Amino acid sequence: MRSMLGVIDGGVCAGLCGAGTLMAYGVRGRSATLFAPSIYRGPAFRRSIALTFDDGPSEATPTLLEVLSNQGISATFFQCGANVRRLPEIARQVVGGGHEVGNHSDTHPKFYFRRPAFIQQELTRAQSTIADTIGVSPRLYRAPFGIRWPGMAAAQRKLDLLGVMWTVIGRDWKLDAAAIVHRVFRRARNGAIVCLHDGRELQPRPAVEPTIDAVRRLIPMLKAEGYRFETVSQMICPTN
Ligand SMILES: [Zn+2]
Repeated sequence: MRSMLGVIDGGVCAGLCGAGTLMAYGVRGRSATLFAPSIYRGPAFRRSIALTFDDGPSEATPTLLEVLSNQGISATFFQCGANVRRLPEIARQVVGGGHEVGNHSDTHPKFYFRRPAFIQQELTRAQSTIADTIGVSPRLYRAPFGIRWPGMAAAQRKLDLLGVMWTVIGRDWKLDAAAIVHRVFRRARNGAIVCLHDGRELQPRPAVEPTIDAVRRLIPMLKAEGYRFETVSQMICPTN
C-alpha cells in the first residue's frame, strides 16, 4: 500500500512538476509561444545580425545613436511609453537616424499574475504614445523582462504586434564592457537578434556606458567576420 501510494504521489508530483516546468517555459522561455506569438531569431542563411536596445529612450541614447551612425548601421529600439513621454525629442532622433522602434510596454511592469485588461492597457498606451510622438506605429513588441502571460497574445493581436525575444542577451545591466563584448561575440551567428539596453526600466540618467562602449568595439569585430547589420523587420522580411 505504501509503495503504491508512493507511485501515485510520484506520478502526481511528476505531473505537477511537468506542468510547472511548461508554465515557466511558456512565461520566460525565449523560444516559447504558449502565451504570445514571438520570434527569437532571423533566418540562418542570412549573414546578418539585428542589434536591439531596450528600455529607452534615455539621456544616453544620443551617444549610442552617434556610434551607430559612425558605423553606418541600423538597429531596433524597444521603447517604453513613459520614457518616450519624458524624452520625446530623443525618441524622434532614434527614428530620424533610420532605426526601427518597437513597443516595450508603457511602464515596464512585471506581467506575472496581471489581468488581461492591465496588459492591454500597458501595450495600447505605449503604442499610442510612440505613434503620436514619432509618427510611426510599432509593428514589434518586446515583453518587459521577457515575461509572457495570458492576455498578452490578445493584446498583441489587437495592436498587430509581433513579439520579439532574442538569440543572445548581453546581460549588459551587470557586466562590464569587455565581458559584454566577449559574451555577444562568442554567441554571434547568422540571423542573431542581440538584446542590449540603452535604458534601465524607467530610471532617469541610467548608467549604460558599458553597453555603448561594448557596441563601439563589437561592430567592427562582427563586420570583420562578414556580418551586416539589419533592423529586426528587415531581417525577417522574406523578400528583403
Ligand atoms: Zn526592458
